[in-house]
Amino acid sequence: ATPTAVMVATGVGANNGVLIKGGDALERAQKIKYVIFDKTGTLTQGRATVTTAKVFTKMDRGEFLTLVASAEASSEHPLAKAVVEYARHFHFFDDPSLNPDGQSHSKESTASGWLLDVSDFSALPGRGIQCFISGKQVLVGNRKLLNESGITIPDHVESFVVELEESARTGILVVYDDNLIGVMGIADPVKREAAVVVEGLLKMGVRPVMVTGDNWRTAHAVAREIGIQDVMADVMPAGKADAVRSFQKDGSIVAMVGDGINDSPALAAADVGMAIGAGTDIAIEAADYVLMRNSLEDVIIAIDLSRKTFARIR
Ligand code: ADP
Ligand code: MG
Repeated sequence: ATPTAVMVATGVGANNGVLIKGGDALERAQKIKYVIFDKTGTLTQGRATVTTAKVFTKMDRGEFLTLVASAEASSEHPLAKAVVEYARHFHFFDDPSLNPDGQSHSKESTASGWLLDVSDFSALPGRGIQCFISGKQVLVGNRKLLNESGITIPDHVESFVVELEESARTGILVVYDDNLIGVMGIADPVKREAAVVVEGLLKMGVRPVMVTGDNWRTAHAVAREIGIQDVMADVMPAGKADAVRSFQKDGSIVAMVGDGINDSPALAAADVGMAIGAGTDIAIEAADYVLMRNSLEDVIIAIDLSRKTFARIR
């Protein structure tokens, strides 16, 4: 392709909301064999919503939700935001006594006065969070987190979590003072175009892959919804770049599509990194392509554009 053709293609991309950082990336995209998608926020809408909150002890439901929300309030994770949002609604809508004035809820619901004091908060990437409330340790996260802390999961809790996961939800375990007190089920719907894009890639001879820090059961349930067969689950944040490299081993050209801070090493390791425009700045910086419309269809447009631009000289 002539420099003019590259310039024209870059312009066509830009008009479609596909920002291409340089001619090399544009050229590599025609040979993409695998497209590795991050799950949360890339294949899914990134709008996590609590669908289930189950308490396994005598603890009052409202008390339980306040405890979990207080613990998660310092976390930036989408799951944490969903938990806080859910508890906030419960707090202000389901217990009118907490709002005796009967005033508009909207104002109060943004206040944080209902949250408990938290100390020694730490985010544990790929696992959850840890903190102290009233001098007692609180853990909120996945099985890995509980295993590391030596907390065993009783069979009835395990089967409850499995049930959530089989219906594409993420199960979050809550431990207070070494007792497993409850479980939250969180759903994040897939993007509307996801299944069509997967089908389109397969038609183009490109293999779609999912990589996620979420557990394999939830990951497979989501993958099944959109037709992805290759799934890498339980991947620690640092492991996503290794996942990219494992597909590159035989010389295959690999694209990575992601939105999060966690994804930036993988975006950089990929032959073609594509960041979702609504994603974090770090991901956008690490990528060769930025998909400004946040639509997965733009992955197909990007590959198509490269193929059309470089086909002329083949
Ligand atoms: P993803 O690939 O979906 O971005 P992450 O590495 O961010 O995955 O998280 C992986 C898993 O770690 C989550 O599915 C969840 O089980 C657990 N986790 C991470 N952060 C939190 C949190 N703040 N609260 C509860 N669980 C968390
Ligand atoms: Mg993500």
